[in-house]
Amino acid sequence: MQEKINELKQLLSKKKNIVITVHRGPDGDAMGSGLGLYNILILQGYNVNIITPNDYASFLHWLPGNESVIVFTEEEKKATEITEKADLIFLLDFGEIARLDTYANIVQTTTAKKVMIDHHQEPDEDISDILFSDVTSPATAQIIFEIIDALDWKHLINKDIAECLYTGIMTDTGSFKFSSTTEKTHNIIANLIAKGANNSKIHDLVYDNFSENRVKLLGYCLNKKLMIFKENKSAIISLTAEELKHFNFKKGDTEGIVNYALSIEDIIFAIFITEKEGKVKLSLRSKGDFQVNEIAKKYFNGGGHKNAAGGISDISVNETIETLKEIFNQYNTQLINTKL
Ligand code: 5GP
Ligand code: MN
Repeated sequence: MQEKINELKQLLSKKKNIVITVHRGPDGDAMGSGLGLYNILILQGYNVNIITPNDYASFLHWLPGNESVIVFTEEEKKATEITEKADLIFLLDFGEIARLDTYANIVQTTTAKKVMIDHHQEPDEDISDILFSDVTSPATAQIIFEIIDALDWKHLINKDIAECLYTGIMTDTGSFKFSSTTEKTHNIIANLIAKGANNSKIHDLVYDNFSENRVKLLGYCLNKKLMIFKENKSAIISLTAEELKHFNFKKGDTEGIVNYALSIEDIIFAIFITEKEGKVKLSLRSKGDFQVNEIAKKYFNGGGHKNAAGGISDISVNETIETLKEIFNQYNTQLINTKL
């Protein structure tokens, strides 16, 4: 770590045009890490831009610095020019270049130095000049805090920066309940609260700020769309593009729905399927040692963590459900023997 910190210090001592980017469909950790780092670099006079591959949920729009975010799909020309001028690019919360979607090509072809900071399994070693990878970390925002500390910048953390990092850690730990949450996580959170992060306000803004349509969509999913496969300890919830349209779907409206399927007793594998922007996207969740990232990688061109992964299916929603039923049967022994 210290050697990498020294290399990073070196880069930050010379390079001034900085771009920060995160994975497509940015979540709380991606935006919290990105804006936390953005705000601390701005504070020190760097020329920094934050570029996301596409849009993200409105419950993250209150994050300090949000007004400066450039969404690649909305301002392609501007984002491209800024990226081409960058000396240094931070790649946060992803380990594969494909997770930048159409922005990937532009990032790959620049000569800028690249620093990747990530907590996903098996990050690609060839993308960056410096790779900060910690697969035991519950959130990239936690690693950002540790890097800030190692750079001796902790005294610079203000309320805005603290609230960004708090949001990243809170959302990726499922509000501090996932097994990846440790004493270290709570110590960092205590530090962030001491720096001014208003924990109760942040929980309200992220979790209790839903549109009426979003809550009704959740009700529909649970009442009409939940399929339970008891003999395989599995559950599926699926939504077609038509159903999403009926509920006037907005980005972020389906976030967390998969967890309801997983909250049922004896269910250890839950899948949420949606048809968005012409793609069938899967969110996979599990309890205990059943590894959903392996399934995401093997069948759905995706990946992720042991208990939370995602991927894409190139067949229809209904065909994807049929494929999943076959997968359940194939993994039946493992599913019924999973220890919590
Ligand atoms: P979600 O279900 O919330 O979209 O994603 C859960 C986790 O799965 C993410 O934190 C990310 O690690 C991983 N993930 C989701 N989609 C993809 C994907 O298309 N490719 C890869 N490699 N990982 C994904
Ligand atoms: Mn993350």
